[in-house]
Amino acid sequence: MQPAICVEINLAVVRANIARIAAAAKVPVIAVIKADAYGLGVTPVIRAIDDLVDSYYVFQPREIVDAATHTLTSKTFIAAVCGDATADELLAHRIRPAVWTIDQARRWQACDCVLAVDTGQQRFAAGPDQLDAIIAAGVCREAFTHASNITQAGRFDELTRGRSLRRHAAGTSLLDAPAARFDAVRPGFAMYAGAVRVTTRLLDARASLGPAGYTGFQTPYHGVMLGGYSEGLAAGACIINGVKRRLLEVGMQSSFVELGPADRAGDAITLLGDGLTEADVANAWRCGTHEALFRMARCGSQIHL
Ligand SMILES: *Cc1c(COP(=O)(O)O)cnc(C)c1O
Repeated sequence: MQPAICVEINLAVVRANIARIAAAAKVPVIAVIKADAYGLGVTPVIRAIDDLVDSYYVFQPREIVDAATHTLTSKTFIAAVCGDATADELLAHRIRPAVWTIDQARRWQACDCVLAVDTGQQRFAAGPDQLDAIIAAGVCREAFTHASNITQAGRFDELTRGRSLRRHAAGTSLLDAPAARFDAVRPGFAMYAGAVRVTTRLLDARASLGPAGYTGFQTPYHGVMLGGYSEGLAAGACIINGVKRRLLEVGMQSSFVELGPADRAGDAITLLGDGLTEADVANAWRCGTHEALFRMARCGSQIHL
């Protein structure tokens, strides 16, 4: 049976993205693979990129433990929030915990802890008043901050300079800022951008007989496609036979699309890719590009290319 929506994940694009990021930054790349690699699938992603990256970053140890992700690579994983994990559990999965309190640094001292520095986000990180004590405990060789602007990267530099720490701050938004580069970069979205193509098919195409659908939309020609809000879709744009069209009304499992007179049942509809970017989707959905990518990656049956 044909799936409602087909999600093609082009791992060669992910590889090319990383190669480009690494060449521009000239420092190692720590690949952010949290949330099942932004929805793309952590197992195929790691298999595709392992030779290109320095190490990995996830949100919680669960993400490594549940998928046995540590068996796919010999590299290490920084985990942002390790909760009540024991040092033995972390060591067994090559997980290096981010720490922001002296208690965490002591509990996980055998685990090559990574100091999380707060430069403005005010979550999961140590403020300036706690840094000295944690550094003095001597268990961190590395420090990072989740900076979203260059001012925060500068604050990170001031707080950690001359402390013999390997340092990183830049995610996607700061990859082009040399002052945020330090000793590694830590991109997520930039690795996956352009790698996901989402398509479905026209079930039906017709000339409209006046207002149609639940909302009474009006357009000379319209059609219906499989896929709706139960799959995470929302109104926006699509491409049919090379022409950008409106996705007019999204139902639970099917949606209405605007058509031209030559479009026919069975024709392909692209919802992401073929010129429609994550930013276009984010704009239509009034959300961020990361959320648009994640929802699109999860809206149908995945095929990894
Ligand atoms: C998610 C995350 C990143 C990656 O962010 P992008 O904007 O997707 O590049 C980097 N660092 C930390 C701490 C994160 O949580």
